Amino acid sequence: MRAVERIRLGDIRFYNTRTRSKEGFEPIRAGEVGIYTCGPTVYGPSHIGNLRSQLMADLLKRFLLSEGFDVTHVINITDVGHLVSDADDGDDKMELAARKAGETAEAIAERYTELWRQDRAQVNCLGPEQNPRATDHIAEQIELGQRLEAGGFLYRIGDGLYFDITRFPRYAELAGLDLEGQRGAGRIDEVAGKRHPADFAIWKFAEEGVQRLQEWDSPWGRGFPGWHLECSAMSSRYLGEHFDIHTGGIDLATVHHTNEVAQSECAFGSHPWVNFWMHNEFLDFGGEKMSKSVGNVATLSDLVDQGYDPLAFRYFFLQAHYRQQQTYNAEAMEAAARGYRRLVSTAARLRDVQTHGNPEAQAPYRAQFRSALCDDLNAPRALAVVWEVLRGDQLSEGDQRDLLWEFDRVLGLNLKEAESPEEEWEVDPRIDGLLRDREAAREARDFATADQIRDTLSEEGIVIVDTPAGPRWKRT
Ligand code: AMP
Ligand code: ZN
Repeated sequence: MRAVERIRLGDIRFYNTRTRSKEGFEPIRAGEVGIYTCGPTVYGPSHIGNLRSQLMADLLKRFLLSEGFDVTHVINITDVGHLVSDADDGDDKMELAARKAGETAEAIAERYTELWRQDRAQVNCLGPEQNPRATDHIAEQIELGQRLEAGGFLYRIGDGLYFDITRFPRYAELAGLDLEGQRGAGRIDEVAGKRHPADFAIWKFAEEGVQRLQEWDSPWGRGFPGWHLECSAMSSRYLGEHFDIHTGGIDLATVHHTNEVAQSECAFGSHPWVNFWMHNEFLDFGGEKMSKSVGNVATLSDLVDQGYDPLAFRYFFLQAHYRQQQTYNAEAMEAAARGYRRLVSTAARLRDVQTHGNPEAQAPYRAQFRSALCDDLNAPRALAVVWEVLRGDQLSEGDQRDLLWEFDRVLGLNLKEAESPEEEWEVDPRIDGLLRDREAAREARDFATADQIRDTLSEEGIVIVDTPAGPRWKRT
């Protein structure tokens, strides 16, 4: 039975992009929270900027679970319809990647979905309750398009069916947009025939004589859904037509989320469609937002190749508030890894402590930790409480252990199980030899060979674990 009695409403405050203020959080249904997070477009590997948006949602989920809520977390997989340009122009990212690789879109999607799941698991993100793919929900998307059409919100032009934003007076609300400014700006990559630059495609027609890799029949003709439609269709399928929290990176607010709101409020007649919009700020690298198009990306496996434990990246993430821009660079990552290692060795020592804790002595620290997270998920403040607990002699080791284990259910740093340097490891001459070869390749900066060895081991179900004493391995 869930611990509804434990839930103390009124203390939790989240910043809501929609109202531009911190508001007290209350779920629509007592004791239950529905969260929808925009997931990856699976045309290539995710970078650690993308991972930041997943970690933010995971922190939110873990915190709400620790407060006693039943959480249903839905994260979608975008495997069709995300065009290269936000102006509904250009090719589909999946289609482009598949053609380039000479593979099917399904094969590409499968590969990068799996990689994304592994990345999430390595940084200890809890699995979502639902992880739907856009291509598995084409019927729901068409049905939503039909509702919008019946309501008179759409118009048809040469290349597709479009949403007429003038039919939705609150269009600018979520992101505080200047729509008149947009009209004046006259973007050159606009689609001919669109009535307003911000009108967006609900369904794009397959070009005459062109065989696309992904296309479906619809009442409007053969083609494929516009990207935004999937999130309205899948969130309503799994969370209902009015739900609690929607998350994603801040770059999604102006177009993707704004369009999700327009479609959903018009189709479902609910306002607000989503009570809380929570957006994470960017992870920057080299002075700008980490992004594939700029090319300034680092992936989790890059960090692992540099010898970092993936959870050291989780620790790095926790050092900044999710609404602050966070700068990634070698020094900052190294500092985070040092902090994480210190925490792991302390945790390893506390694991052996046999004495009982004293709840009364623990109470003020528990309250401080909770109050940091209640304040719009202030993770850096929560981390400071962790160090306060471990510092000095104001608490017994039993209290330190109890608090650390409890706090880590929210922080997700796996401190109870994290391998300490003294851990016993399996020995196998062949695998140990491969590990040494990989180390040598890394030292020679031959990352291709290093990656190859890691992949070979991973195919055998073996993961490499970086410990303070050097790399070790274990079977998954
Ligand atoms: P995409 O796969 O590009 O659609 O992005 C997936 C998620 O990652 C979205 O929520 C984006 O807003 C988010 N995102 C992309 N780049 C960054 C970044 N540099 N920092 C933080 N979040 C990002
Ligand atoms: Zn989305």
